[in-house]
Amino acid sequence: MKLIEGKPIAEAVYRECLETFAMLKEAGHVPGLAVVLVGEDPASKAYVGSKERKCQELGMHSVKIEKPAETTQEELLAVIDELNADDSIHGILVQLPLPKHLNEDEVIMRIDPAKDVDGLHPVNIGKLAMDDPSGFAPCTPSGCQRMLIEMGIETSGKNVVIVGRSLLVGKSLALLMMGKGEGGNATVTVAHSRTRDLEALTRSADILVAAIGIPKFIGPDHVREGAVVIDVGINRIVDASAKNGSRLVGDVDFDAVAERCEAITPVPGGVGRMTIAMLMANTIRACRLRAGL
Ligand code: NAD
Repeated sequence: MKLIEGKPIAEAVYRECLETFAMLKEAGHVPGLAVVLVGEDPASKAYVGSKERKCQELGMHSVKIEKPAETTQEELLAVIDELNADDSIHGILVQLPLPKHLNEDEVIMRIDPAKDVDGLHPVNIGKLAMDDPSGFAPCTPSGCQRMLIEMGIETSGKNVVIVGRSLLVGKSLALLMMGKGEGGNATVTVAHSRTRDLEALTRSADILVAAIGIPKFIGPDHVREGAVVIDVGINRIVDASAKNGSRLVGDVDFDAVAERCEAITPVPGGVGRMTIAMLMANTIRACRLRAGL
């Protein structure tokens, strides 16, 4: 069994980022990312914090906009309008989920597609569906695909089963992997909460992706011997033996499944690392595109 670790692959992405960054800087451009956080969700705060730290590490311009949970739709749209008009900002990321009273779709649609480094604007999702590489692909799915490419795992003609149909992960990853680019050309099936006989379906997968949000949901009965397993899940569970009383686990029961797999991603230390790396890569690319370089 091979462990597909996120760190070395993310570092390869950062090396490319720094090369492009140096070229942009020489031409007088500094990539800028704005992250918008509404409310006090601790997991969202932690994600935003690590995005900000990574921007600083790379020497990028970074802006964090924190708004109270009771922010209105109009106030949030006004923030997006300001960022769209700000020339020092090349990427805008609105940390999801937003508080329930806000309309996420309307907020995402307000972002200038050229600054939509999270790749969730309909223009970018449309380009993804059209195999048009000029758009931005969502960060977590493109991180999963990059991991497969870097590990030399063939996807062309392979049966890929993705469990989870969110736009953020499952549906977008399906578009990427059935696309004609590198790490694509797979035969993709997307399973979800209404899928019948899930175990039989997932056992047909050469590459199985879990993006469900249920701790350790995928067990040995879901995985065929010799499959590649990508675990997107990040779930915090109670663990009295852990320092702070809890720990992170994936959607895959790693200990029960790992020995059956040809390769598998750990949680933590797997896909999660890639998400931020792809966000930085998208932001630097957005800057480059704007600069016309
Ligand atoms: P979501 O809740 O939007 O979607 C979950 C999907 O799982 C749904 O499509 C649903 O149909 C499916 N599902 C639920 N129960 C099921 C069942 N019993 N059988 C089959 N399918 C079922 O979640 P999401 O935003 O796609 O995130 C999924 C997981 O990935 C979560 O654990 C989340 O924390 C994690 N995540 C990780 C990263 C990362 O950077 N690694 C990024 C985004 C999300």
